[in-house]
Amino acid sequence: MNVILLGAPGAGKGTQAVLIAKRIGLAHIASGDLFRQEQASGSELGNIAKSYMEKGQLVPDDVTVKMILGRIAAPDCAKGIMLDGFPRTLEQAKALDEAMSKEGKGIDLVLYIKVSNEELIKRLSRRWICRDCQAPYNIVEVPPKVSGKCDKCNGELYQRADDTEETVRKRLDVYFSQTMPLIEYYSQTGKLTEVDGERSIGEVSEDLIAVIESRIGR
Ligand code: ADP
Ligand code: ZN
Repeated sequence: MNVILLGAPGAGKGTQAVLIAKRIGLAHIASGDLFRQEQASGSELGNIAKSYMEKGQLVPDDVTVKMILGRIAAPDCAKGIMLDGFPRTLEQAKALDEAMSKEGKGIDLVLYIKVSNEELIKRLSRRWICRDCQAPYNIVEVPPKVSGKCDKCNGELYQRADDTEETVRKRLDVYFSQTMPLIEYYSQTGKLTEVDGERSIGEVSEDLIAVIESRIGR
């Protein structure tokens, strides 16, 4: 089972991906997390990615595709993958399809988490993330039990540099112009299922899990 989670920044992809990947037993691959790890390690790729991420722009397709294809070739991905944040452009989607079909594999399901624009801006500017395990918190709606500390691992919470209001707007513009076309691309394949993302985390994940389980016939 190879699944793509599609949705705007702030739609809840990261939160849902972690929950679902665990339940279904898929390798969770988050392009943004991979870029942030590269930055933290000071690699050349990390430095390239940083300059784009700071401005709310997409990292160029060639480097992004190379990084993801390298990641999905790892042995833990044989059991199935849950892609979160990739693909984000038509070019990336086509490169992914091509690479997977060479291996006799393919994308089975694309889950689109739909959330309105106003809600996205509200959520992103309130988002804090655990430095250690990347768990996201919403300081208004889903606050941590102890202020500034992660419930799961006690790590320090921080606000991402690209979660400031100006960069958030830029990222949403980029999403509408470059990533929205993927919804059309995947709906033509009959693999796309839309889920209402403006409900509680639990309700959204129940829906998403139900869709996946019906596909795998559980
Ligand atoms: P969000 O989905 O909330 O924007 P991510 O962590 O997925 O957060 O992405 C953060 C940034 O990383 C993006 O704004 C972009 O600069 C870069 N990035 C992540 N995934 C991709 C991708 N598939 N293609 C290009 N850039 C990406
Ligand atoms: Zn944590």
